[in-house]
Amino acid sequence: MPLTFHHPTSLMAACELLAELDDAHLIAGGVSLSLMVREGFVETDHLVGLGRVDGLGEMARVDGALVLGARVTHDRLAHSESVREVIGCAPRVFGGIGNSRVRNAGTLGGNLAHADPAQDPPLLLAAARAVAEVRSVRGTRDVAVAELATGVFETALEADEVIARVRVPVPATSRRFGYCKLTPNSHDDYGTANAAVALESTPDGSGWSLRIVVGAVVATPFVLDVPDVDVDSLEAGLPSAVTEALATIRPQHDRKGTPAYKAALAQVAVRRAVDAALRDDASAGPRSSA
Ligand SMILES: Cc1cc2nc3c(=O)[nH]c(=O)nc-3n(C[C@H](O)[C@H](O)[C@H](O)COP(=O)(O)OP(=O)(O)OC[C@H]3O[C@@H](n4cnc5c(N)ncnc54)[C@H](O)[C@@H]3O)c2cc1C
Repeated sequence: MPLTFHHPTSLMAACELLAELDDAHLIAGGVSLSLMVREGFVETDHLVGLGRVDGLGEMARVDGALVLGARVTHDRLAHSESVREVIGCAPRVFGGIGNSRVRNAGTLGGNLAHADPAQDPPLLLAAARAVAEVRSVRGTRDVAVAELATGVFETALEADEVIARVRVPVPATSRRFGYCKLTPNSHDDYGTANAAVALESTPDGSGWSLRIVVGAVVATPFVLDVPDVDVDSLEAGLPSAVTEALATIRPQHDRKGTPAYKAALAQVAVRRAVDAALRDDASAGPRSSA
């Protein structure tokens, strides 16, 4: 059967096509899907394009959150001042994804739905406690970005669900981010070990909480919350609760290295991401090499 390309102009029309058609797949920038089709991992007779769907390109502050439409490209995220104001290291993280072709075509929704464990935005957005707003003919539901990926190239999305937008809460108190992407082979590669960190002051300003999210070395993001962290002692070393938790990460052996090597890289990535958050150093994004 020849491949049919559908071009809905509304989100509901896209949802209806996904619900009606057997084995239909969404396509946004096509950066990953085209490779999955070419390699035979995805077989489909129907592609449902998001290119003409209204309302998926917004980047705006709405009700105390930064709202990012699913079709916003990495390049737009890298250059947005409103995104940088909320997530200081966003320009480096989104600007460090792949190459300019990938950044100009690849979208936020496509990145999250693709669920490659080595991707960067899922970690940064999980550290920011972002939520994906998911639509289908049955209605709308929220899925925490931290819980979106359920395995390698697998997500909590049903086959007929569309990520419409991502909401990043903007706390009233201070929050700092750090990110580290270790690319020992080449700078434009996916990370071998990635870590995102958010250091957030408590509502009364008397203390700090720490969220660490590790990726690439595990199939789904490894999330660790430390509710009450002594920032002054972080400079000297990570709390034992953190090092003990990181020691439970069990990477798989693959072409990027042995489990022991990748576990060690994960520790380095977390250390550097924490240092970047302590310095509130927006320049300490990806491109760090082991
Ligand atoms: C050479 C190369 C280097 C790369 N390097 C990096 C890197 O360093 N870091 C990184 O993070 N990523 C990297 N990527 C991945 C890239 O970021 C993703 O391919 C891209 O974001 C996918 O977005 P897309 O719009 O092209 O998705 P598509 O390819 O169109 O779709 C991908 C998947 O998402 C689904 N989908 C698309 N939009 C939605 C939606 N709104 N709701 C639900 N499902 C949807 C599709 O059905 C498909 O399954 C790289 C990719 C390449 C090819």
